[in-house]
Amino acid sequence: MDFSGFLGNQEVKSALSAAFKAGRFPHTLLLQGEPGTGKRTMAKRIAKALVCRHPEKAPCGSCPSCIRARAGSHPDIRLVEPVGSARSITVDAVLKVIEDAHRVPEEADRRVYILVLGSRPSEAAQNKLLKILEEPPADAVFLLVCVSAEQLLPTVRSRAQCFTLRPPTVEETAAYLVDREGLAAEEALRLARLTDGNIGRCLELQKTRGGVEGELQAFDLAQTLAHEALSIHGDGLLKAVLPLYKDRVLCREVLVRLEILFRDACVLRAGADKLLSGMSQTAEELCALPRAVLLQRKEQMRELIRRLDGNANLNLLVTCLCAALREKSGRSVSPDDQD
Ligand SMILES: [Zn+2]
Repeated sequence: MDFSGFLGNQEVKSALSAAFKAGRFPHTLLLQGEPGTGKRTMAKRIAKALVCRHPEKAPCGSCPSCIRARAGSHPDIRLVEPVGSARSITVDAVLKVIEDAHRVPEEADRRVYILVLGSRPSEAAQNKLLKILEEPPADAVFLLVCVSAEQLLPTVRSRAQCFTLRPPTVEETAAYLVDREGLAAEEALRLARLTDGNIGRCLELQKTRGGVEGELQAFDLAQTLAHEALSIHGDGLLKAVLPLYKDRVLCREVLVRLEILFRDACVLRAGADKLLSGMSQTAEELCALPRAVLLQRKEQMRELIRRLDGNANLNLLVTCLCAALREKSGRSVSPDDQD
């Protein structure tokens, strides 16, 4: 299976290629990964390869099947995703897939279903899906796409072979943005650093005018607030949060970055070094707090994000954020004397 042009994720690409070559491609594949890591792009590439007429170099890109797949009009590839304001795939959509999957393929040897499950697929939809995954028609392949397999029922998870997509390195992403998107080298590197190499996020930010600036502001603010959480008096906290009172989007960005920062500090505390925040120095400074406190802060940030998404009152929410950051933390003098 040819994945050229798809950055990083070498292990996933090798495993899928090997399975395809050996003729033991799984009936059900689950691609998980944070938004922007290319799950849908990869699912489409796999679908194209599965219908390509030249299996030895699939997807060849030039046979009629590849051309139709690229145009989104191949009769044996179905893309099913949440529509309109829905955030997850519906029961009706799954029922249609079940009905369709029992038909004989029209052109290829198999029918391929790309099912973008969405953020929290309902239990009802998953139970319907389970029916077809338990006894899949011999010539059907299901490519499930979701942010985290944890959101799925264990019964659905156990039916699928799961692969995790991760962002490529900052350097690889920057080079991609220069080559494919025509960005100036400096701008590309700045975007790649801001997003820790997440290409989807880069493209999204680049599209929204002022997006990069907004992101930088969130980055700076999260860092400032983390420092305030560490300081003895926290005098600057009330001033630092002022921009959040009038900007929901910014507030969410800051909360997300703080959650990742606290998560990174926990990771460092545990002796690992796979950081996600792009703020390694601040994460190290946060290690002055006991691990239990870091975990608690991380959960508090998560809860605040949930409340923000649930349309909570912004003033109240920012006040809660300040309280959480200033909560008595049992901050230790030396990073090593507590845990
Ligand atoms: Zn082809």
